[in-house]
Amino acid sequence: MLKVRDLEVYYGLIRAVKKISFQVEQGQIVSLIGSNGAGKTSTLKSIVNDVKRKGRIYFEGHNISKLNTPKVIQSGISLVPEGRRVFINLTVDENLRMGAFNNDEKFESLQESMYDLFPRLKQKRKQLAGTMSGGEQQMLAIARALMCSPKLLMLDEPSLGLAPKIIGEVFDIITQLKEDGITILLVEQNAFAALNISDYAYVLENGEIALKDNAKELINSDEIRKKYLGA
Ligand code: ATP
Repeated sequence: MLKVRDLEVYYGLIRAVKKISFQVEQGQIVSLIGSNGAGKTSTLKSIVNDVKRKGRIYFEGHNISKLNTPKVIQSGISLVPEGRRVFINLTVDENLRMGAFNNDEKFESLQESMYDLFPRLKQKRKQLAGTMSGGEQQMLAIARALMCSPKLLMLDEPSLGLAPKIIGEVFDIITQLKEDGITILLVEQNAFAALNISDYAYVLENGEIALKDNAKELINSDEIRKKYLGA
């Protein structure tokens, strides 16, 4: 569904992503794991053309490398950014409205389905997003990204700063979205939580793919257990 070929990202002289290639098959959860600064966020930003980069990106067989960010989103890719970035001075309802910028006619029905998926957001629909807990803001960030009806949902560190119980809830939602037919590209430092729900994973180190395999194999690999799972 998504094919990334020879992706390179530079920030001035810093080469943050070094000619990586990877793919995401339809219907799967694929994770990019790796420590701080490995190049995970830069990779996701590259896909939605939010950072200067080289290389080719294909989505459903089309080369989308030259599309601007709104056009990439219209093609069916949505990003839940690191740090959630909800509009803190807008209500839950208003945040969802912003997410539906390319889906205005379907707003009501999409909003209803979001409130079915996230009942807690429905209870708080008139509340300002900035007054909600981190977990609620993460749920809102996911719901907002879903308002453009993506075929591929990319999530950047959704577990960051959340309590273990809430992390469990977020990962349950991601699994539910896969069951609903949405393909997922997940970026995580929490390697164990990510591998647990993933079909396939790539390990990024210093801007390069150090390892790739089925998530089940990686979770059992000694190298991964030592480096990323604290075993
Ligand atoms: P994190 O979990 O900290 O976000 P990451 O794996 O997502 O890490 P990136 O954020 O993609 O990694 O960063 C990769 C490298 O690029 C790092 O060395 C980082 O310091 C550098 N970098 C990222 N953004 C910028 C920027 N805007 N300007 C300069 N250097 C940057």
